[in-house]
Formats: sequence, C-alpha cells, structure tokens
Amino acid sequence: MFCRNTSSRLDAELLACHVCGCDRAAIYRDPNTPVTATQHKRFMQLAKHRAGGQPMAQIIGNTEFWSLSFAVDTNVLIPRSDTETLVETALDLIPTTGEPVIADLGTGTGAIAVVFATERPQATVLATDLSAQALHVASRNCRAHRASRVVLAQANWMTAFAEIKFDFIVSNPPYIECDDPLLANTDIRFEPRNALVAGPDGLDDLRVIVKQAPRHLKQGGYLLVEHGYNQASQVRQLFAERGFQRTTTQRDIGNRERVTFGRKA
Ligand code: GLN
Repeated sequence: MFCRNTSSRLDAELLACHVCGCDRAAIYRDPNTPVTATQHKRFMQLAKHRAGGQPMAQIIGNTEFWSLSFAVDTNVLIPRSDTETLVETALDLIPTTGEPVIADLGTGTGAIAVVFATERPQATVLATDLSAQALHVASRNCRAHRASRVVLAQANWMTAFAEIKFDFIVSNPPYIECDDPLLANTDIRFEPRNALVAGPDGLDDLRVIVKQAPRHLKQGGYLLVEHGYNQASQVRQLFAERGFQRTTTQRDIGNRERVTFGRKA
C-alpha cells in the first residue's frame, strides 16, 4: 500500500469513494467489495495526480467549507478554514433582521457569498470576480445551494460599482508576496496565481480595496478583509489612513492575526 501516513490514507479513501461513488463508511463496512478494472485504472490515475501534489479538492472537484460542499476547479482558490474566521467575524456583525446589502469581492468559488445567503436569507449579496472562469464556478455553487439572492458580476474590485452603497464589504483578496517560496514549494502552486499573489509585499490588492471601500459603504457600514498572519498591523494602518473606526483584528483557529475590520464613520 502506498499510504505513508494518516493523511495519505484518508486521501486514498476519498479517491476510492470518488471513483466508486460510495461514502467512506462503505469502505469499512464492505472492505472486500470488488472494484471494476475501470475504477481501478481511474483510481491509479488520480492517485498519481495526488502524489504529484495536486490538491484533493481539485482532483475530486469539490471541497467543504462551513459544512457545505463547493465545486472547485483550477480556476479558483480552494476555500480554506482560515476564511471561516472571516465569515464568522462578518456574521457576528451582520444583523439577523432587515435586508442587509453585502459585497463579496473576489468571490472565487462563491463560498463566502453562498454562506452569507444561507445564514442571512434576507440579505442581498453582490459577489464579484475579475475572472470569468471563477464566476462560472461561483454560479454553479450558487445554483447548487439555491442562493438566489447572490448576484454575480465581473469586476476589478470596486471600479465598476458606480454609486452602489453596501452595509458590508467583505473580501478574501490575494495577499501573498510575489516571491514567497510557498508559491513554488507547496501544493498551492496548483492554484491560480492571480487569486493568491498581490505584489512585492502582498498588499497591492488590500491597498486598493481599503482605499475604494469608504465610497461604497453606507455610514456605519463595515469593511472586513482577510490577510496574511504577518500583515495585520499594516492593514490596520491602511484602515486608519482611510478614516475607519473601531478597527479590530481577529485571530484564526491557529491563533494568527487573520481578519481585520473597521466601521465607516
Ligand atoms: N490563505 C491562503 C494561503 O496562505 C492565501 C489566500 C489568499 O491569498 N487570499 O494559502
């Protein structure tokens, strides 16, 4: 068996489930169920992709975020648990009453927007991305989750927003430094660079978003952004320069500063 550790074993099981169309319990319940030659061949092909470092989510075509399943392909960032901190922080602020208007900038799979639509059914969510291919994936995910109050639009941050004003603007933008060795040495090399990288210090897109946001927020509206674990003080500084109040940073489950938010005065 090629399983080197628990995570390899789990991946192998998930690939077997994917190929055979069964759930993991079935592998333990009926361990001697024969597989067809086609299933075996397909399994070996996919295992080879995984051994080459391709992320599981891309191989099986979906991943879980906020206990929901999302379609994933090579055109979108794979939703990560770090981003659940962003969603959780936003949901603490988004009221359960009224009809909040929310923007999710750089939506990728649409995961953030779909969770908002699910958790706040009366909200309207405008989810944007620069990539038409990403919007195609987001649209599949919105349909799968019947998120009919998510509106998808192709946009370069807020440049095409005209006079629209939001109660909340939320974004998990690219924030990795362009020469970060992670980009070449880890499995993230399989994900789209334009969803990950933002200039020499990783802050190029965050600068644009924080600069543009005040014009598109209602008074008392909030901007919430995800950022790198070592970028929090610079991001708080950007918020301060644009007059945001009550600027606060939230830590992720790994206790790293991950999400900063502030209120428009
Ligand atoms: N958190 C991701 C990572 O470090 C980066 C996501 C992003 O750039 N928005 O892999």
